Parts: sequence; C-alpha cells; structure tokens
Amino acid sequence: MEKLVSLAKRRGFIFQSSEIYGGINGFWDYGPLGVELRNNIKNFWWNHMVRLRDNVIGIDTSIICHPKTWVASGHVDCFSDPMVDCKTCKGRFRADHLGSLPCGQKPSLTVEQCAQQKKGPGELTEVRQFNLMFETYIGALRDESAKAYLRPETCQSIFTQFKNVQIVSRQKVPFGIAQIGKSFRNEITPRNFIFRSREFEQMEMEFFTKPDEAEAQKWYEYWVEERFQWFFKLGIKPDKLRKREHAKDELAHYAKGCVDVEYEFPFGFSELEGIANRSNYDLTQHMKASGKDLSYFDDATKEKYVPAVIESSLGVDRTLLTVLVDAYDEDVADGEERIVMRFSPKIAPFKAAIFPLSRKLAEPATKLEHDLRQEFNTDFDDVGSIGKRYRRHDEVGTPFCITYDFDSENDHQVTIRHRDSMQQERVSIDKVKDYLREKLK
Ligand code: ATP
Repeated sequence: MEKLVSLAKRRGFIFQSSEIYGGINGFWDYGPLGVELRNNIKNFWWNHMVRLRDNVIGIDTSIICHPKTWVASGHVDCFSDPMVDCKTCKGRFRADHLGSLPCGQKPSLTVEQCAQQKKGPGELTEVRQFNLMFETYIGALRDESAKAYLRPETCQSIFTQFKNVQIVSRQKVPFGIAQIGKSFRNEITPRNFIFRSREFEQMEMEFFTKPDEAEAQKWYEYWVEERFQWFFKLGIKPDKLRKREHAKDELAHYAKGCVDVEYEFPFGFSELEGIANRSNYDLTQHMKASGKDLSYFDDATKEKYVPAVIESSLGVDRTLLTVLVDAYDEDVADGEERIVMRFSPKIAPFKAAIFPLSRKLAEPATKLEHDLRQEFNTDFDDVGSIGKRYRRHDEVGTPFCITYDFDSENDHQVTIRHRDSMQQERVSIDKVKDYLREKLK
C-alpha cells in the first residue's frame, strides 16, 4: 500500500485534500490522471448498467434532500456506528474495529492490545452510538427547523423519485433506476487510503420487481451474478474477488438476502459492493412518511402493488483503489526494474503516448497526436531517451507507446510498443486509429 500511495501522489492520481494546510482526514483530491481513471470507471459502469440495457434508466439527484427523507429511511435514528474513546491517547475508534486499528500513541499495537497492556478494558470508554450523517443548515436560520443532511447514500432519492421516473420513462416493472453521485459519511476512523473516506462517490441501481418472493429472488440472483461478472469485465483478477453472503443475523429486518462482492486488498478481503433484496420496505416507508402513493399499476395483470427492490451499491473510490492495487506490478525491462500499472486498456488514463524519436520530428509527431486525441486520451512526450519515456508511461499504465522515427518520414509507418509484452510492431500511420479502436474494444 505504501508503494501505491506514493505512486498515486507522484504520478498525479490522488493527493491528500488540503495538503498545504496539513491535510484533512478522510478527504482526497484526484489529480490529472486520477480524474481520467475515475471517469473511465464511471463510464464503464454507466454503459454496462444503463446505456446498454432496455430496462434500466439513469437520473442525477441533489445531494441535500428533504430532511424527512432520512427519517423515513431510518438514517436519523439508526445510521450510526459504535464508538469508544481511549482515555490516554484521546483517539476515537470504531468499537467493532478495535482489533485492527492502530493505537494513536503506539501504532505498532492495535487499540485493543494497547488497552489490555495498559489498564485493561477501563482504558476505553463505554461504547456509544455515533450518527454518521453530516449535518448542515438550509437558509439563514441555524435552528432545528433548518437542519438538513448531506446524503449518506444516493439511493433514497431513487425511491422518492420512483413515480416521476416511471411515468416519464414509460418503463414497466421490472425495471431499474441508476445513478452516480457523491455521498458523505462522518466515518469515525477513515482509513486505508481511499477505501474508507468521509466524502466518496457511489454507483447505485435499484431494480423494481413484483413483490412476489419468487420473482424478487429470481432478479436478486440475476443481479448478484451480473454484478460479480462486471468486475472481470473491468479487468480485475478473478482469483482476488469473492462473494460473501450475509448471515441471517447481519441482515436488516426487512431484507431477504444480501451478498457483498469483496476484493483481497493488502489489508485483507474487504467489501466493494453490496447486492441486496430489500423487499418493498423502502417505497413503503416513503409512502407512509409522505402520504403519497408510490404504488405501481400493472396494466397486464390489472394488479396494483408496491414493488420490491433489488439494490446494487458500489463505491467509485473503492473500485478505483481495487483497480490500482490489482494493476500494480514490478518486473524487469531491458535489464532495469520497472513499475508497470497493468490497467485494462479500456480504463487506462492514457490510451496512447506519442514520442518523436528526435525533436526534429516534433511537427509530424504532434500532427499524429492531435489527430488521435480527437478520439482517445493521448499524451505527447519528447523528453529523455525512448527507454525513459517507456518507463514513465509504464508507470501510469499507458497500453500503447507510438514512436515516430526517421523511417516514418518515408514508409509512413510508426512503431507501436505494447506495455505488457513490450513487443513492438510497425503500423501504417493511417491505420493507427483503427488499430487503437480494435485494441480498446
Ligand atoms: P462498510 O461496512 O465498509 O462501512 P457499508 O456496508 O456501510 O460499508 P454500504 O452502505 O453498503 O456500505 O455502501 C455501499 C458501498 O458504498 C460500499 O460497498 C462501498 O463501496 C461504498 N462506501 C460506503 N462507505 C464508504 C466510505 N466511507 N468510503 C468509501 N466508499 C464507501
């Protein structure tokens, strides 16, 4: 993780937020390559979940919604984590993570070990519940009536807008509504780089089905498999992924099933995504709280019902961390050690880098790069030896490096070098676009 965090900063993927002021715990900024990678991941999800499907549509809703939303959803009363304070180091910790969190004063020990070594369990305060929602105020007043929350998940407005979206899109149940957007949780102990932060982005989809158990179960199984397969399509190593089914006592009282997709990070297997069969609890809650009818009339069967929901909820930042961890590799190239990010070409920040062999060839090489950039995110690099330029681009995972040399002037061909195999081939300049299109499919 240390190597990765250092590379992420050095190469402009991720910076600590507000670094010049000493940073702010649980917040991160994405640099020039980070934002490209992030957008590619989001587009890949959006295409797979929305654009390529007939029965899923997208929306984009506000971060602050009516505070009653969070009462109805149960977040005001129950969205909390158990917290304890250490009386010596004054640190605050999640009570259910004490065995893995480092002590504030002796980071070589966990909070649990440290407390035991000192005064035993009395070192820590009693457990109390801490609500994770960030509070804010709407308008000029600063009292209870103006209190609102930054959303801790994006899906509640999918439920509250269910009827509007269903009517305008003329979708028939079963169908899904998806959105990508920022969420905020005042995590007690943000950690593991961008894995657990206080501001993050989610990609969520709620799929509405008949509230019939067999029908909901059928779609639940479909989405668990579909979502699991998505990570392979993203290029993640299959042996690092697993599904973990929640035990009965982990499930919310209304939920009929939940599976987490987990990835084996350097800090152990951890949750990337949750897929849950939530029955028709969410829409029912919002109907009760708002007094509005969110039920659906099925034209075919002439039945009126409140649809059940299958939810898929994935973090953009956790996916990005997975992609970084999974792509990181070290090997030897031309007798030198190299770091290579083996991103799937589909999501690599740069698709190709164009190098003139000599600065004398800058003009035609620039022309080629300008032509390619209409379609692909490319980089132009004319600094240092070709070997050095390869290393620089291996480190940011550019799948193809294209060298324009003196022969290119006569044979109208360039050399394309592959990041992973390091093999090179000559390709006609007028075929380079087709070549890249084919490889990035
Ligand atoms: P955890 O148990 O890790 O706190 P959770 O079960 O509370 O996660 P969900 O509420 O199911 O998480 O959120 C859905 C997804 O949103 C998670 O699988 C994760 O990818 C992402 N996510 C949740 N909390 C955070 C966070 N603090 N930082 C980054 N991503 C998050």
